[in-house]
Order: sequence, then C-alpha cells, then structure tokens
Amino acid sequence: MVKRRHALMLPYPAQGHVKPMMQLSKILAARGYYITFVNTDYIHDRMVKSGSAHSGVDFRFETISDELPPEHGRTHQIDELSESLVDNGPAQLENLVEKLKALPDLPPFTCIVYDGCMSWAQKTATRLDIPGVSFWTPSACGFYIYLSWPLLKEMGYIPLKDKSYLTNGYMEEEISCIPGMPPFRMKDVPNFCHDATNYMFKFVETQGQAAFSADSIILNTFDELEGPVMKELQERLPVYSIGPLLLEQKNGFSDSSANIWAAEPSCLQWLDEQEPGSVVYVCFGSITVMSDEELVEFAWGLEASKQSFLWVIRPDISHGASAKLPVEFVEKVKGRGFFVSWAPQMEVLSHPSVGGFLTHSGWNSTIEAICAGVPMICWPFFAEQQLNRTYVSQVWKIGMAMKDVVERGEVEEMVKRLMSGKEGEEMRTRICELRDASIRAMKEGGSSYNNLEKLFVEIEEENRS
Ligand code: UDP
Repeated sequence: MVKRRHALMLPYPAQGHVKPMMQLSKILAARGYYITFVNTDYIHDRMVKSGSAHSGVDFRFETISDELPPEHGRTHQIDELSESLVDNGPAQLENLVEKLKALPDLPPFTCIVYDGCMSWAQKTATRLDIPGVSFWTPSACGFYIYLSWPLLKEMGYIPLKDKSYLTNGYMEEEISCIPGMPPFRMKDVPNFCHDATNYMFKFVETQGQAAFSADSIILNTFDELEGPVMKELQERLPVYSIGPLLLEQKNGFSDSSANIWAAEPSCLQWLDEQEPGSVVYVCFGSITVMSDEELVEFAWGLEASKQSFLWVIRPDISHGASAKLPVEFVEKVKGRGFFVSWAPQMEVLSHPSVGGFLTHSGWNSTIEAICAGVPMICWPFFAEQQLNRTYVSQVWKIGMAMKDVVERGEVEEMVKRLMSGKEGEEMRTRICELRDASIRAMKEGGSSYNNLEKLFVEIEEENRS
C-alpha cells in the first residue's frame, strides 16, 4: 500500500505570507497530500472571523502561540513578532509535532514547508528525518537581496554610517555589484539595512543565510519573469520557481481562502456598473501605514485625475486614530469613487472594469497584477517592495515608479498617463504578455509546473532514502 503523504505547512504570521502558503497547500492537497496548516493563534482567530478557515477531511488547522500579549500590535511591529517567534517558535513546533505524531489517524509527516523567515523549523524537519522546504514568499530579486546582505556589508554599503545618510544623497547611490541584477539604488535595498542595531538588520541576514541549510527553497515566481536572478540563485542553492501559485488556486478554489480580513463584495457590483478598463484600483496591502497628509495627497490626486477609482482604506492605514478623508473630497468624488476596508483583490483585479492598479508593490499584489494583466503605479512602503518597484518600472516596464514623497500633482499625472496615455497602453500590452507567460508556466509542461514536479520527486526520494 502506498504510504499517505503528509505536509506540515508553517507560514509566517502575516497576510502576505499566509495566502501563498495556503495556495501551495491547495496544490499539495490536490496531489493527495494530507495537510496540517499551522497558524499562530492570532492569525487563526482572524481567519475564523473573516470566514476563511475551512478545514476538511484531509486538511486540518493547528496553532502555535506567538507568545505576545493579545493587545500587541504584531502586524506593525514585525521586529518584536519575529524575535518572539525565533525565541519561542522552535519549542512550540516541537511540542505540536509530538502531539500530532501520537494521533493514530494521522499519516506520518512527509515534509515540512516553512516560511523562509521561520528557518528554525528546518531543525524539526532534520530531526524527523524528512525534507524541510523553505518557502520565501517575496520575489526572487527580493530573496536575492536578503541573501546578498553579507556582500553589501562587506562592500560597506550597509548599514548606514548615520542618520544623515538618509538625506545626504547617499540613498540615490547606484549599486551594481550583485551578479544577475541590474544596477539599483541604495534606496531599493530593504530599509531594514539602515541601522545595524535594529533587530531586523540581523534577522533578515540570519534568515537569508539559513536558506543554505534548507533541503530545498521555493519561490512564488516564474522563470520567464525572473530568469536571470533565478539562474544566479540556482548556482548557489537548490531553489525552484513554482509560481504564480494563485493560478492553480483559481481552479476551483476561492481566492478568499486565506484572508485575515473579511472582504466587502459590494465593490464587485459597483465595478459591474463601470466602463471597461476605466477604474483605478487603489490598495496598499495589509501592513502599509501612511501619514494623514499622505492619505490626503493621494485623495486629491485621485480627485484631480477625474478617473473612477476603487480604494481600499483599512481602518489602520493611517497613523491617525482612524483613517479620515476630507469631507469635501468624499462629496466631490461621489459616484466615481468607491471605498471599502478590504477587497476581494484578485476578483477586483480580474474585473474587466479595472484598468490600473495603484499599489505598494508587495510581492503578492505584484504577481496578482501580472496574472490579471493590470499595469501598476508603485508607491512602496518597506522591505523588498522598493526593489519590486524598480523591477516593475525599469526591468519589466509594466508600471510607473512614484517618488517616495506623495504629491497630489504626481498622483494625478501618473493616473492620467497610466489610464489614457500611450505609455499606459504599452505597459498594458507588456503585462498581458507576462500574464500569458505566467499561465503557460503553470500549465503542464511549463517551467513552474516542471519545477513543482521536480520538487515532488525530490520529496519522494528523500522519504525513501
Ligand atoms: N489583499 C486583499 N484585499 C485587500 C488588500 C490586500 O485580498 O483589500 C491581499 C492581496 O490580494 C495580497 C495580500 O493581501 O494577496 C497582500 O500581500 P502583499 O504581498 O501584496 O502585501 P503585504 O500585505 O504583505 O504588504
């Protein structure tokens, strides 16, 4: 009798990590794997509240604690969240695994797929003598920059000598020492690099270097998009590009399956009433926080563009007590502006009325835009989002890079250029070509499909040996 396979999936507790891990879980489940999906209590509670934690016969949820107090602002304090997971996660995972091993009806574990930022889980995989698969959820270029931390340190680029380097022109300095990457600027290096005393400076380096101990590494990208970087990575590591994972998920699975906030479907009805390609979708992901002034600049820029827009305003998007838009602005855009606190993003991006995406350049949002063929305006917030902006605007040429400081005039101008200019049209053509390439990559015989096959074989073989 063939032994039933069993994957333990361990995402980092943030929306942009849980979602692709769930997408991968669904692919493994379709392959006959039994899935144990391990969330932190906080994330699991959020998924239950938003109606997207569906267990099944071969799919169970388990939880570990992040050991932070309930009122902790974990999503916005990822340094403390990461540190607590490093300190407490290994023991929590060990205890959970031992508890599950004692359950008579569960198949023995075949592999652990853990988030690249939870690299401590590799130890448990090694102890159980099963493969540990490290899933880095950023872009391949994002992963590569974390891997290059020691090189950037050695060459003296990071950390910054002092705070004055943030404003003395140094952030515009070009870096061209990373093979396989086009020149980029200091300001594209994840902002964790600024201060060596910040926990995240060391954390991203440790997690990046831990990839060398993983049995395999997987990325939610595809070779036709990030080929040169993938080639460099493959010279150093057993790394596979297996995305975009959401394309598989669309086969019968709802996009809302791993939302930690409940989406407001009313915006889809509103989109139904709009002209094809006429709406700008504005959304800055699950973590971005901006000042009230920035929020207001975006608002008046959108107003002046005269374009219709759908804007996701999370209650915690601004530093103020709650996000407040000027009353005169809301009055002026009545009928052509629609606001929600959380959108069914993939359904929105795939809607024929949506013609452009003003985004924070999170990797999930970027790959979703590519899969939907919607060009972007990029205003990144943190981590590797700045580098994604550079790739989107300069390498793939499927979007525009906004300046770091939001000005209503620039917002207006970019929206106009994207939605009705020749430049926007050219970007739309290019992103549709990439969309088609992404579909081919995930289909039987495609690059990501073949890489997934290789990964499955590797897992099988390691279980046999
Ligand atoms: N998302 C969503 N609805 C929203 C805002 C975000 O479904 O209103 C989803 C989005 O589709 C993406 C994820 O949340 O899958 C955000 O991940 P991303 O990597 O883009 O950014 P992060 O939130 O990690 O900064």
